Amino acid sequence: MPASGSLSTDVFIVGGGPAGLAAAIAARRKGLRVAVADCAAPPVDKSCGEGLLPDAVACLGRLGVTMREAVAYPFAGIRFVDGDSIVEAVFPYAFGLGIRRTVLHRTLLRCAAEAQVETFWGSAVERDASGQLTLAGREVDARWIIGADGHNSRVRRWAGLDANDTRVRFGFRRHFQLQPWSDCVEVYWGPSCQIVVTPVSATEVSLALLSSDAKMRLPEALLLFPDLHARVRYAAATTSERGAITAMLPLESVCCDPFALVGDASGSVDAITGEGLCLAFQQAEKLAEALAANDLRLYDAAHRAIMRRPRIMSRLMLSMDSRDALRHWVMRRFEARPQLFSIFLAAHLGVFPRSHKRELDIEASSTLPNPNSEATIPNRKLEEEPVERRRSTLSPDDVMLSEAKHLL
Ligand SMILES: Cc1cc2nc3c(=O)[nH]c(=O)nc-3n(C[C@H](O)[C@H](O)[C@H](O)COP(=O)(O)OP(=O)(O)OC[C@H]3O[C@@H](n4cnc5c(N)ncnc54)[C@H](O)[C@@H]3O)c2cc1C
Repeated sequence: MPASGSLSTDVFIVGGGPAGLAAAIAARRKGLRVAVADCAAPPVDKSCGEGLLPDAVACLGRLGVTMREAVAYPFAGIRFVDGDSIVEAVFPYAFGLGIRRTVLHRTLLRCAAEAQVETFWGSAVERDASGQLTLAGREVDARWIIGADGHNSRVRRWAGLDANDTRVRFGFRRHFQLQPWSDCVEVYWGPSCQIVVTPVSATEVSLALLSSDAKMRLPEALLLFPDLHARVRYAAATTSERGAITAMLPLESVCCDPFALVGDASGSVDAITGEGLCLAFQQAEKLAEALAANDLRLYDAAHRAIMRRPRIMSRLMLSMDSRDALRHWVMRRFEARPQLFSIFLAAHLGVFPRSHKRELDIEASSTLPNPNSEATIPNRKLEEEPVERRRSTLSPDDVMLSEAKHLL
């Protein structure tokens, strides 16, 4: 193809981050011609907690993305630390994976190359006044344009799919040369901030600060967590601090033919859920199915279903961020009944064994805090409806979601 000629393909993906490359691999597996363009040069790094939940690992496996040479670190579950309160639970199945973003990007790149995805690095995709997309001066001629260009997606704007309803926080991550001390990802909860600790190799851990305060940085945030501070204080930093925005961004629709959005461009949940990558990979799978069926409505519906539970979990966790009394109350409940934290974690992954449903039904009939009260936690009955009746009318998912909503 001459350099000055148009770039012709079935699927043109703007953004070669995890979502763009996963979508490219998935679409190639459906036999479509795919090109990906990114303004950055690989391997692309980004501020991230770098934890892949078990579903993300499974989804990569389905896409044929093997981690054979990748340096990564498996983790068994999640631990919450809130002052003296500590709760932890292991995943009900499989394991998660801590992996440096650059390592993940290299792995996805190798798989994209094996799948014969065409890639273009170092040039931003632009749109001229007539609406024509261009890449480094070449016109793009494609059946579908996929926006995988992250939180500030231009493709989302071009497609008229933008929304204003967004809650933004700030994330800063840094790596330290330390042997992991836990087989869990740890979340340290403080006043209006959290630090997420993820093992990413046998000799390195990643610390990611999440906060509503744009000026807060890791060194000062660490002072809020003396135990964690003592661990990392004399450890050598292996990277510099890198920041990014994390947002709760719901979109009404993620498609407008010929445009479709995937990953953070398609709306996001707060990074505290650790779900962004998992959602991106799940969306990539569903998007490829819809493209192969030549029906973007399938993707719109699948996207809505994928985002439903994570949105509620994200709101729940953001409530724990902004309401100290609620968080302390929830942590005390988890400490008193560790099984509840296991249920919470399982529900976070969308796993809901029958025994868990029963446990929540029983919990639902007990007391929950007034989320508007910071000072005191008055006891109150949330539902007068008999437990037996609710059991018969609600699905396991609905029970979990309604419990989460009550906490908001
Ligand atoms: C602090 C923090 C911690 C997080 N922790 C976790 C975690 O532990 N686990 C997890 O699963 N998720 C986590 N997330 C979320 C996760 O990082 C994102 O969901 C994920 O990066 C989304 O991938 P993406 O490919 O959609 O977007 P991005 O990774 O942002 O990639 C977008 C790409 O598009 C390119 N681009 C943009 N505009 C253009 C253009 N005009 N032309 C060409 N290219 C363009 C960019 O260069 C970039 O490479 C975290 C996020 C933050 C901020």
